Amino acid sequence: MTGEKKKRVIKTIRIDVDKCNGCRACEVICSAFHAEPKYSSNNPARARIRVIREPYKDQYVPVYAGDYAPAECAGRDKYTIDGKEYEECAFCRAACPSRDWFKEPDTGLPMRCDMCEGEDEPWCVKWCLDDVLVYEEREEWVEEDKEEIKLEQLDVGLESLADRYGLDKLKDAMARLTAKD
Ligand code: SF4
Ligand code: SF4
Repeated sequence: MTGEKKKRVIKTIRIDVDKCNGCRACEVICSAFHAEPKYSSNNPARARIRVIREPYKDQYVPVYAGDYAPAECAGRDKYTIDGKEYEECAFCRAACPSRDWFKEPDTGLPMRCDMCEGEDEPWCVKWCLDDVLVYEEREEWVEEDKEEIKLEQLDVGLESLADRYGLDKLKDAMARLTAKD
């Protein structure tokens, strides 16, 4: 189903990897922004950005959390850049079963960068003093069906809960909720 064309602001963060010194300030402020209550604590394990850090090889690469992947992919990528070899899956943005990245540590639910919704500029960009992260906005005309997007988001949430707790438990919980209504 397609909707009307609408103007939408596309938000991007340009990453200049060569400037990153691995300070992890971006991880700290991201986790603080998403803490409950906001700014009450910080724990880089809860950040939606992770810095691949290998100080002995002088490697620091920030990676943003993207979409949830319910299954491991069959093929893996291995990168060598400027003679430095990076781990398999190093630049993958997905929360997926093959690793603990981009999963909320207590619940295991996937986390996704939301560009610090509601803020004028992402916090990780503001806190990166070396200008590794540069925020950019542009406008695009896109076909958008809001209802479809909301349902997609709902599917992703339910899928991750089913992976985490099993389909039967999820069905039981849904049945209990329905009974309450
Ligand atoms: S705050 Fe900037 S320099 Fe520090 S780790 Fe993050 S991207 Fe790299
Ligand atoms: S844009 Fe906001 S949510 Fe995304 S990684 Fe940066 S601080 Fe975290």
